Amino acid sequence: MRIRIFDTTLRDGEQTPGVSLSPDQKLRIARELDALGVDAVEAGFPMVSDGEMRAVRMITSDGLSCEVAGLARANKSDIDAAADAGLGYVHTFIATSDIHLEHKLRMTRDEARERAVSAVEYAKSRGMAVEFSAEDATRTDRGFLLEVFGAVAAAGADRLDIPDTVGYSTPSYMAGIVAETAGATGLPVSVHCHNDFGLAVGNALAGIGAGASCAHVTINGIGERAGNASLEELVMALQCLEHGTKYETGIVTERLYDASRLVSGIAGVQVQPNKAIVGGNAFGHESGIHTHGVLSNPLTYEPISPELVGRKRWMQAGKHAGLHGINAMLAEYGVAPDEEQSRAILARVKELGDAGSKITDVELLAMAGEVMGDSGIRQMVSLEGFSVSTGVGTMPYAFVKLEIDGKEYAGTDHGVGPVDAALNAVEKITGDLAEIHIRDYALAAISGGSGAPCEVTIRVEDPQGNKVSARATGKDIVTTSVRAAIEGLNRIMLRKAMADKS
Ligand code: MN
Repeated sequence: MRIRIFDTTLRDGEQTPGVSLSPDQKLRIARELDALGVDAVEAGFPMVSDGEMRAVRMITSDGLSCEVAGLARANKSDIDAAADAGLGYVHTFIATSDIHLEHKLRMTRDEARERAVSAVEYAKSRGMAVEFSAEDATRTDRGFLLEVFGAVAAAGADRLDIPDTVGYSTPSYMAGIVAETAGATGLPVSVHCHNDFGLAVGNALAGIGAGASCAHVTINGIGERAGNASLEELVMALQCLEHGTKYETGIVTERLYDASRLVSGIAGVQVQPNKAIVGGNAFGHESGIHTHGVLSNPLTYEPISPELVGRKRWMQAGKHAGLHGINAMLAEYGVAPDEEQSRAILARVKELGDAGSKITDVELLAMAGEVMGDSGIRQMVSLEGFSVSTGVGTMPYAFVKLEIDGKEYAGTDHGVGPVDAALNAVEKITGDLAEIHIRDYALAAISGGSGAPCEVTIRVEDPQGNKVSARATGKDIVTTSVRAAIEGLNRIMLRKAMADKS
């Protein structure tokens, strides 16, 4: 059964405390959602501001292939604003629970029902498709809810939505009102679930199981308070879990991670590491038992393959690590310790882990280097020549000569200072050669004085998004920076060479 995905990242998601998007940002997200394959985007609430009106207009006139909806309260001016924004599809709502009627709208049930009916009739008269939401439906008297839905259905509504506005429903309650609503009206029913009790996706699934054909969702589950049902979680749960019925959506799941990163970057809302599907740790393994299992067959500890949602598996060394995991991580860099060496490396990893330290690939490779000697790690990149000039009245300038896999390359460039010039010269070579770029640079002085040693940490990234860090210590800031960059390049190129081989 095909389930319709109605994305409200740009409307309910934008109601996340602290989030406000410019029209350009909203358009970028709308395009990404369209490419992701959502059936409809709720572009915004045109009545709230001029900028919002402009954003919705930009989205409605962008030629997207998905449907574009906008929110309107159940009154003429909101519905007119939606029509003026170029929308052919309006999502209009009025609260129906006694608590909202009494304390927010100061309206009787009859007045609310009449408002709902006239809003639907008016929107239809303006030529729009209408989805009607009974706000706070899950705290509304069930008899009255059906009365309102029946009345708006008779008035010409095209779709009905059941919002669990404060996340107060349980899965079985949601299933009950969905079945009743669909049975009584024969209209397509959507569910709009909030996550106040962590049940948004569970409630949406239960609603779908009871006959809802559409879910309102947001990328990363952003939204008011604890957020909305998350698009990525609901879609993957629909497509991958056993429900008796087979569900499909139009989502191109391989794009989920990119969509998540785009929204989190633009909205400035970080994704928690343990978030399902898109969290940083969702496909990460540390424990030795798990890494051993995943290396023999990923299905042992991964319910779905990371590639399905546009991600990659990663492993980290730590105190729970085992020999298999350590060897697999080192093998990514072409490092193959013998059994005695692996045990020695593992012992150091556990010692550091017990001391509470985080062990990144930088530390792991450094430990392998100490145990195996320099011969353990192949040098694909080496520094053959280097000079830098700087001063007053002259632009800092650097020359770098590298040997990469037996061939010599030279690069020259300017910079704001000698370190910048040197790293630019390195990037000139590697950017042309393999699109490898230096992303982060951090410098720390180890102790005081102008002759004190310094420590440089650098992060390089390849076009596939693989990132590798490296560190170097020395007394000359410029040379140490170049050495750190070269170590980083060496590691990422080794990793690439190993990946190409396998
Ligand atoms: Mn909502």
